[in-house]
Amino acid sequence: MKDIQKRMPEPELIFDKSRPGRIGCNVPVCETPEVDLAATVGETRTELHLPEIGELDVMRHFVNLSHINYGIETGFYPLGSCTMKYNPRVNEMTAAMPGFAKLHPMQPVETIPGAMDILMGVQEMLVEITGFSEITLQPLAGAHGEMTCLMLIKAYHTSRGEGERNLVVIPNTAHGTNPASAARCGYDVVSIGTNEDGNTDLDDLQKVLDKHGPQIAALMLTNPSTLGLFEPNIERICELVHGVGGQVFCDGANMNAMVGTTRPGDHGFDCMHLNLHKTFSTPHGGGGPGCGAIGLKHHLEPFLPKPVIRRSGTAIVADYDRPQSIGRVSAFYGQFLMEVRAYTYLRAFGKQYMSDISRHAVLNANYVRARIKDVLPPAHERPCMHEVVVTAEKYKKQHGVRALDISKRLIDYGFHPPTNYFPLIVPECLMIEPTETESKETLDSFCDALISICRESEVAPDLLHEAPTSQIVGRLDETMAVKNLDVRWRTGGDVVIDGGPKREFAKGEGLEGVRSDTVPRDS
Ligand SMILES: *Cc1c(COP(=O)(O)O)cnc(C)c1O
Repeated sequence: MKDIQKRMPEPELIFDKSRPGRIGCNVPVCETPEVDLAATVGETRTELHLPEIGELDVMRHFVNLSHINYGIETGFYPLGSCTMKYNPRVNEMTAAMPGFAKLHPMQPVETIPGAMDILMGVQEMLVEITGFSEITLQPLAGAHGEMTCLMLIKAYHTSRGEGERNLVVIPNTAHGTNPASAARCGYDVVSIGTNEDGNTDLDDLQKVLDKHGPQIAALMLTNPSTLGLFEPNIERICELVHGVGGQVFCDGANMNAMVGTTRPGDHGFDCMHLNLHKTFSTPHGGGGPGCGAIGLKHHLEPFLPKPVIRRSGTAIVADYDRPQSIGRVSAFYGQFLMEVRAYTYLRAFGKQYMSDISRHAVLNANYVRARIKDVLPPAHERPCMHEVVVTAEKYKKQHGVRALDISKRLIDYGFHPPTNYFPLIVPECLMIEPTETESKETLDSFCDALISICRESEVAPDLLHEAPTSQIVGRLDETMAVKNLDVRWRTGGDVVIDGGPKREFAKGEGLEGVRSDTVPRDS
C-alpha cells in the first residue's frame, strides 16, 4: 500500500498548456505554388482552436496520461465475466505484419491465400474446440454473436413455418446482453429462476415450457454460468427445450474455463457464441470491433451469414451462393486482424497447452476462493470454475459497508476492483476472475489486500466509505456522465470546442468527487 493519503497531481488538459506561437512539428517548405482558395470557392478558413505546444511537451502530456491509466499491463485486473488475461505480444507482431495489416478488403480472394488460410484455420480450430460443425467469424463482439445466433434461430423456425414463435427463455443469472439481444431480434423474454445450488431451476423451466411451449423460440443458457458454476443439467435442459420445438443457445463467454476439457457442441446446444477477446487473447474493445465468433449445428447451416468461408477441393473460397442466408452481419469477413491474433495464440499454445490454460484459470479462481472464504464466503458451497462469486452481506449488515466500498478500497491498495453486483441474484456480491496468467504471488497479494480490507471494515468502516483516496478522482456519480454528457472544453465560460447543445446544471448538481475544474464552468 503506497502513499494512500497522497493525491496524485492533477493533470492539466493539453489546452491548458497551450502558449500562442508554440509549434510541435516542422512542416516542409511548400514547393508548389500557393492557390488562393478563397477566390475560387469563397472563404474557407475558420479558427481550428488547436493547442499550441512543443513536441516534447506533447510527448510528456500523453505519456503521463498513459501512466494514470490502469490496464492489464499495469496491474491485476480481476474483473469477473470479462476474462482480462494477458494478450501475448507475439499476437500483435503477427497482426502488424504488412502482408496482413495492409490487405485491402476489396482484394480478390485469389490474391489473398494466406489470409484465407488464417480464416479457415481459426474456423477449423474453433470447430474442434467447441464441437460444432460450422463457425462464422463475422460477428464483431460477444453480444453481436448472440444476436446473430438468434437471427439464425429465427430463420430456422421461419423456414419450418414456425415463425410465430416469439419467446426466448433466459435464466435470471444471465448477462444483460442476453435479454438485449433477444429484444433486438423482436423476441419477448421470459425469465426463469436459479435454485439454491446455483443451478437453473428445472421446475421453473418446466412450468414455463408447459405454459408457453409452442411460443418458445429459444433458451439462452450461459455455461459455466455467471455464478462461476458448471451447469450440471445441461443435457436435461436441452432435451426439455427441444421437446417443445425450441432451440438452445449457449452463451460461451465463459469458455476460458472449458477449452480442451468439454465441448458445448457435445452437450446438446444448437449454437453458441465465443468471445475471442476473452478466451483467445485478442484485445477487448468497447462492444467491437472485435470478434464474437459463433458455432452452430448442421441444421442452422443454410442460414449462416454470407459469404461462408469454406474449403472447395484444395482451395479456400468465399461462398456467396447462399439463398437462405440471413445476409451479412458485418462488412467483409469480420474483424480480420482479431482472427490473426487468435490464430497466433491458438497455434502458439496448441492443443495440449490450450487445455492447460483453462485448467490453470480454474485453479487460480479456486485458490482465491479458498484463501478468502473466511472473510468473503462464496455464494455457493462448491468448487467454482474460472471465477468465484462471493458475498459481502455480513459487512453491510454489521458495519454498513457495502461490496462497492470494498471495491473502492481495493483501488487504494493498487488493484482493479472485481465486478460488483453481478449476477443480480447474489446480495452484495463481488465476482472475481483472476485468469490463468496471474502468478501465485499476485493472487496472494490480492487476497491479503481483501483480507486486510475486510478487517478495516470492522474497525474503521469510514476508511472504506471514503475510498478511494489515492486517485485523482474520488467517487464518481456513475450515471451523471450518461445523463449529462459533456465533451466540450471551455475557457472562462466560453465554449471553445462545441460538442453538443448547451445544458443547464441545477444547483448542487454535478460530478460528485470530481476535481472542481472538470465541473463545467457554466454550472
Ligand atoms: C462479456 C459477456 C458477454 C458479451 O460480450 P461482449 O463482447 O462484451 O459483447 C455476454 N455474456 C457473458 C456471460 C459475458 O461475460
